[in-house]
Amino acid sequence: MPPGSDGAETGVLSPDEAFSLLGNELRITILQELAEADGPVRFSDLRKAIEVADSGKFNYHLDQLTGHFVERTDDGYQLGRPGERIIQAVLSGAVTESPDIEPTSIEWRCHLCGTEPIEMDYREEQVGVYCPSCEGIYGGAADRDATTIPEDRERLYYMHLPPAGIAGRTPAEVFLTASRWTNAETVTAASGICPRCSAQLVESAAICRNHDAGDGRCDTCDNRYGVMYRARCTNCVYDLESVYSNKLLTNLELRAFLIDHGLNPLHPQREAFLELFHHYDEEVHSVEPLAVTFTFTGDDESIRLTIDDSLDVVDVERG
Ligand SMILES: [Zn+2]
Ligand SMILES: [Zn+2]
Ligand SMILES: [Zn+2]
Repeated sequence: MPPGSDGAETGVLSPDEAFSLLGNELRITILQELAEADGPVRFSDLRKAIEVADSGKFNYHLDQLTGHFVERTDDGYQLGRPGERIIQAVLSGAVTESPDIEPTSIEWRCHLCGTEPIEMDYREEQVGVYCPSCEGIYGGAADRDATTIPEDRERLYYMHLPPAGIAGRTPAEVFLTASRWTNAETVTAASGICPRCSAQLVESAAICRNHDAGDGRCDTCDNRYGVMYRARCTNCVYDLESVYSNKLLTNLELRAFLIDHGLNPLHPQREAFLELFHHYDEEVHSVEPLAVTFTFTGDDESIRLTIDDSLDVVDVERG
């Protein structure tokens, strides 16, 4: 019978309690050891694997984890769900090599201007995508320092990808992986659910009141589109600002339109999807109350979706 543990408390921890419970190297080692095991690990095997000479110290730290991050069963110790999430977070950021990718040409065409090849790089957990010929969608001037966008590049757009996503993949595969990962995240966000923690999002539309982008980007907001979709998590640090079409992807008629044009909204193909879905017209009828129509065109057909203040689509015209 392992010592300690009987009085372990279960239940919800405050963030302070969780951080303080994890602030010890030996405890993280225990979690890692349990993550690598196929099933529950007996107390004596766990202690042997971790090679701690001081059994009192080992007991103490295991006891601290038990009841929340670690569960004790009749067959031994195993990770609880919160412990699994800690390990997932650690492993998503863990890579053996340098996680940066220097600017690299990839054989894709820019979905805005058709130039091929375009360039990608990977820094600070972001895939940056750059077009040598046009101004892209999101400006970089405002956060050039914060995101280390190279001086000589105009950013088409960027996508979040944990470092684990680059392991064993070529730059072109990293680009595709980031596209699909981002698509899955934004579909979840557009449903009002935080893709990182599942809590409620606060969603809004941000409108540039002096928007004038011509064929490039607007001097006022530095973006190509004047209506942006924003989602902030009520629980964690997730914070999204993207083109508004991402919010519309939950609309059934728009999905049907994409599918009718040979595009899979849940598993986007390369350029063709972006050429239709991230290359659209927007008409702001009114800012307060909000009324905006977005028009997507594929082949000779178009679909117009109008949203109101609720951010819901209130009218769809196809033809
Ligand atoms: Zn371009
Ligand atoms: Zn603007
Ligand atoms: Zn969250």
